[in-house]
Amino acid sequence: MYRFKNLTRFASRVNLQCTPVQFYLQHIHRFATAGDAVDPSISGDGVGQAYAGLGPTRKPDKPRVVVLGSGWAGCRLMKGIDTSIYDVVCVSPRNHMVFTPLLASTCVGTLEFRSVAEPIGRIQPAISHEPGSFFFLANCKAVDAKNHEVHCQTTDGLQTLKPWDFKISYDKLVIASGAEASTFGIKGVKEHAIFLREVQHAQEIRRKLLLNLMLSDVPGVSDEEKRRLLHCVVVGGGPTGVEFSGELSDFIMKDVRQRYSHVKDYIHVTLIEAKDILSSFDDRLRVYATNQLIKSGVRLVHGIVKDVQPKKLVLSDGTDVPYGLLVWSTGVGPSSFVRDMDLPKAPGGRIGVDDWLRVPSAPDIFAIGDCSGYLESTGKSTLPALAQVAEREGKYLAELLNKIGKEGGGYANGVGDMNLGAPFVYKHLGSMATVGSYKALVDLRQSKDAKGLSIAGFTSWIVWRSAYLTRVNIESTLASNQIEFPTSNSWDALVVTYISGRQVRINDIKQNSNSFEDFWIILQG
Ligand SMILES: Cc1cc2nc3c(=O)[nH]c(=O)nc-3n(C[C@H](O)[C@H](O)[C@H](O)COP(=O)(O)OP(=O)(O)OC[C@H]3O[C@@H](n4cnc5c(N)ncnc54)[C@H](O)[C@@H]3O)c2cc1C
Repeated sequence: MYRFKNLTRFASRVNLQCTPVQFYLQHIHRFATAGDAVDPSISGDGVGQAYAGLGPTRKPDKPRVVVLGSGWAGCRLMKGIDTSIYDVVCVSPRNHMVFTPLLASTCVGTLEFRSVAEPIGRIQPAISHEPGSFFFLANCKAVDAKNHEVHCQTTDGLQTLKPWDFKISYDKLVIASGAEASTFGIKGVKEHAIFLREVQHAQEIRRKLLLNLMLSDVPGVSDEEKRRLLHCVVVGGGPTGVEFSGELSDFIMKDVRQRYSHVKDYIHVTLIEAKDILSSFDDRLRVYATNQLIKSGVRLVHGIVKDVQPKKLVLSDGTDVPYGLLVWSTGVGPSSFVRDMDLPKAPGGRIGVDDWLRVPSAPDIFAIGDCSGYLESTGKSTLPALAQVAEREGKYLAELLNKIGKEGGGYANGVGDMNLGAPFVYKHLGSMATVGSYKALVDLRQSKDAKGLSIAGFTSWIVWRSAYLTRVNIESTLASNQIEFPTSNSWDALVVTYISGRQVRINDIKQNSNSFEDFWIILQG
């Protein structure tokens, strides 16, 4: 009863396009508890059908900012939005942000999965308690710019619910839906390779690696099959592929030799790249990285993958490469959601934006992060697909929307000819990548041809580790290291975390997981 009372209050505030009871049934991910009955007749099946949602805001409601995506760009934007001015509604197929630069470290247990995932409710608390702010676990399927609406469909990855359609009216729409891994149309990549982009990918890699180690130790497995099972192939020599190869070779050198000494001579890492590895880095650093990888046992292969089959891939020169684990990391391109969208595009197919990150022909729509690029008319080239670009665009746009809101332009079509102030300007702060064995590259030049500091080695690794560890959910990593080393004090735990922190476990869900949100991230991931 209490819930229904609340819902009636909520319904009048957000101007629902359905009765409170329907809303309750249709948004069970927010309001229902396990075991509540759901009326299947209310389910919607397609865009265009009359279905539930959040209707247009009316004063005295706050104007509504709808954010598509919970990555670097969307989360930085939500963090900066002034929730005394706006309600925030986030639509995303995941309820957390992933700290991607450290994702490779979670595959081999250097960091815990939960250390690199931050729940959205912690980034923008209003989403958990403000009556007009929400997180919806869904994909946006279409943007109706004319009617200021987005059409969405629920997703849970487990088919718990039949996919459910709903729509949301926006006053301001921020598209921050990221990009998709490029496969270049190569047959078998999507089916057999693992992409390293989400926490569940890192979990899958860890499981597969440990499984293959155990299977290869079983009596009767031929030498050839052992070699295949324990052949880890990484395709793509950009920073992600190189960092993952480095982490893997460290894992082999230190942990596999100790824990799986029977099969230690069978396990190998091969990194396949069509051109040069780390092509955006200084030449000197690239040579250093190449030597370092070779020294730590990574085989570097120049080649183009033509076909991927369940147990082997085939290169364009006809060479067969058998594998037990295949990780695909060859860069990103526009997602099908962006490709299908009827909005202007930048060269390369991202959503086209102007100097203020607006989509010019669609009032109140903005696009940030990997899904957006400058329109040709701006004379600027598209910025690289980097967290530092996405994060700074999110910060800039939050400030711009706050300014617009303060000056009374927060509602749909409210901006008029308002002076928006300074346009977004990106200044590259440099690039970093670790190559394993406590070595990293730090390239502080503004661009590949510019002058500036570029260093490699242990000092760079300290810089790399410090820069990232100060940003992630360090408490959980420290806590788990203290559990692992019960006699340690916080300082010891910090040292263990800093220097290694590797904790390889088959069971990812620890009994002492102290937060429901953390538990859920692992469950969902
Ligand atoms: C392993 C790895 C390591 C990296 N390391 C670095 C690094 O060291 N430095 C660096 O600068 N960059 C790094 N990057 C790149 C960086 O992570 C990306 O540039 C950054 O994530 C882009 O942010 P974004 O918000 O645009 O997209 P994302 O972070 O990809 O977020 C997109 C969000 O949109 C959601 N979404 C997708 N489709 C829809 C839809 N239809 N409706 C609603 N939501 C949707 C996704 O679920 C996700 O929540 C790395 C990337 C990876 C994968």
